[in-house]
Formats: sequence, structure tokens, C-alpha cells
Amino acid sequence: MQGNVFIVGLGLIGSSLAVCLKKAHPDLKINGWDRSEKTCRLAKEAVIVDEIPASFAKGAQTADYIFLAVPVKTAIAYLDRLENLPLQKNVLVTDTGSTKQEIMTVSATHSFDFIGGHPMAGSHKSGVTAVDPKLFENAFYIFTLPKNKKVALRVKELEELLKGTHAKYVHLLPETHDQITGMFSHLPHIIAASLVNQGDLFDQNHPDASRLAAGGFRDMTRIASSDPVMWTDILLSNRLVILDLIQKWQSEMTQVAKWIDEADKGAIYAFFEQAKDTRDHLPVDHIGVIPAFYDLFVDVPDYPGVIAEVTTVLGRAGISLINLKILETREDIIGVLQISFKNGADLRKAKECIERQTDYHCRLI
Ligand code: NAD
Repeated sequence: MQGNVFIVGLGLIGSSLAVCLKKAHPDLKINGWDRSEKTCRLAKEAVIVDEIPASFAKGAQTADYIFLAVPVKTAIAYLDRLENLPLQKNVLVTDTGSTKQEIMTVSATHSFDFIGGHPMAGSHKSGVTAVDPKLFENAFYIFTLPKNKKVALRVKELEELLKGTHAKYVHLLPETHDQITGMFSHLPHIIAASLVNQGDLFDQNHPDASRLAAGGFRDMTRIASSDPVMWTDILLSNRLVILDLIQKWQSEMTQVAKWIDEADKGAIYAFFEQAKDTRDHLPVDHIGVIPAFYDLFVDVPDYPGVIAEVTTVLGRAGISLINLKILETREDIIGVLQISFKNGADLRKAKECIERQTDYHCRLI
């Protein structure tokens, strides 16, 4: 493919898309724009983009394809700016935002072609320095199509343009998208953030608490370190869906509190049993709405050479690891190695090899 692409927002998603587009289509000219001058400079120096135009307007006016990879509310504001610019006649605009209903409603009032997009991949990191050409590999890339059939058909162009992502394309109605992400991404983020805040309050009266905080608390609150600007926009853009989910969550908590108050052993047991059963059957190597991390947790004894022993097993089996961390020592199991892999196949193979060749117990979470 040929032409000019203009990527607005050169953070994790925008810069990773830029390199994927260029890899699959070397003849495309990739222009980028970010409100941070430092980000623009880094993106140009690292050849993530070909050019940084003199202004947003200049980049937009010469573009055949425009990607808005900025927080959701900012993307919506940019749509209004685009409407007042003399754009290329056949320009196709898309976004990467985590909510879809609001932007699809706004874009329907504009004269240029717009198709909603949401690449469902993320990372522990953000910003241009987190650029990752493999970020979207095997992840779902959701498109929400406009009602205008002629414009909707242009999704084929976008799919061709994005083929270097190696993502799996899915078409969803905007309301379906927002309900699914509301349940499986937005609500969990709110709960994780609220747990961390409650823990912090508790910590102020119990100074030793955070030092003793168990690994489980860390695991279930990992997503609370996401970017606050991005998450404020997401909540304000999916208000009705999230309000409904919070209400259901509150009723569930009220119910649990009642069982505890009444010492209803059977009900409490059934609550945990049902959750365990469902959780145990979740796929481990499937990239869902919360980015998957292929982590293996190995309980190891505290003696010299134990890390070398585990990595040697992996090396012999030809399994590459992408990160290795020693988690805090726990009194009962002595130590936990957290080993991260690139995909679910490596994760499963590693678990099998370590358990077969050592005495160490492996867990997926
Ligand atoms: P990021 O923080 O890594 O990057 C956002 C970039 O946008 C930053 O470089 C920032 O300087 C720039 N920016 C902010 N306001 C701007 C403005 N007014 N004009 C120009 N640039 C501006 O965030 P990200 O993870 O790349 O997320 C970008 C979008 O993609 C968001 O809408 C987010 O909801 C969505 N998204 C994020 C993830 C994820 O897990 N990180 C996954 C899928 C979709």
C-alpha cells in the first residue's frame, strides 16, 4: 500500500502501530504527532515515524489515513477539529480508544469517513519508549463499523493496512463492545484501584502492613497502575454501562456481607466454589480485554544456584523467557520466581519441563 498515514498520539499504542504499518507497507509515509515535544523527538530519532509535521493541521490535511491514538475524550475532540480542516477527499479516520459508543455517535455527525478501532493489547508500560512491534500479535483488534454501508466496507482497507500487527480482527456493534469491555476491563480496573486505595488507608494506621502485603494482593491489583488520564476518560465515556455494573457489584457485596453476618457457611462455600470452578476454566493463552501476561510462578527453596537450575532447564528445552523476577520471600514457601514468556505455548512447555525435571511446584497465578 502507498499513501500518507498520520498517527496522532505516539504513546504505547500509536508508536507500536506506526512500526507495524511500516513493516508491512514500507512505501507508506508515516507522519506522527504528539502534544509532548520530547515524544515527537524520540519518535523521529528512533525512526518510529518518518516525519513530525509542523502542525497538527498540516499532518491531517495531507493524510490518506488518520489514527487517533490518544485518550478517548481527546480523540473525540480531535474529530471536531478534523471536521473544520480541508482534509483529503478520500481520507479514512480511525481511533484506538477503549470505548466505542460515544465516538461512533460523534463521528456519525461528521462528513469524513470514520471506522472505530480498539486493539486489545497493552503492556506494563506506556509512552513512546514502550514501543513494541509485537504488541498486537494474536491480540483481538476490534472494529466498530458505521451505519453507512459504503464507509463500513472500507474496513477491508484498514485490515490490509494493519496486517503487520498480526492481530485477529473482530467486528462488533459499539454497544456490544462497551458492555463487554465494561464487564471484563472497566469494572475490574475500578475494583483494583479501590482495593489499592483501601489498602493505603489501612496502611496509614498499620505501618507494617504493606511490607507484609501478600503476593495475591499484588497479583489482583496489578492493573491499578494503569494511566489515570486514560482511565478517567474511559469511565466518563462508558458511564451508563459502568454505573449498571457497579450497582450489580454492590448488590453482590451486600449479599456476601449478609451471608457473613448470618454465618451462612453453605452460601459462602458455594460462592467460592462457583468462582473457583469458573476461574479454573478460563483459557490461559488467550489475549482478552485485560492484556494477558504469560507468567509462571515457581516456588523455590532458598539455596545458591537455584535460579541457574531453573533457567538451565528452560535453556535446554529451547524456551526463551522475556523476564525473570524474584518475588518477596514468603515464610511458608521461601521464595517465588516469576518468569514471563512471550506466549501461552512457551508458558505451558516451561511449566511441564520444570515440574518434570525439578522438585519445584509451578503455578500460573
Ligand atoms: P500512552 O499514555 O502510552 O500514550 C498516549 C499518548 O497520547 C502520549 O504520548 C500523550 O503525550 C499523547 N497525547 C495525550 N493528549 C494528547 C493531545 N491532546 N494531542 C496529542 N497527543 C496527546 O497511552 P496508550 O496506551 O498509547 O493509549 C492510547 C489510546 O489507546 C487510549 O485511548 C487508550 O484508551 C487506548 N488503548 C490503550 C491500551 C492500553 O492497554 N494501554 C489498549 C488499547 C487501547
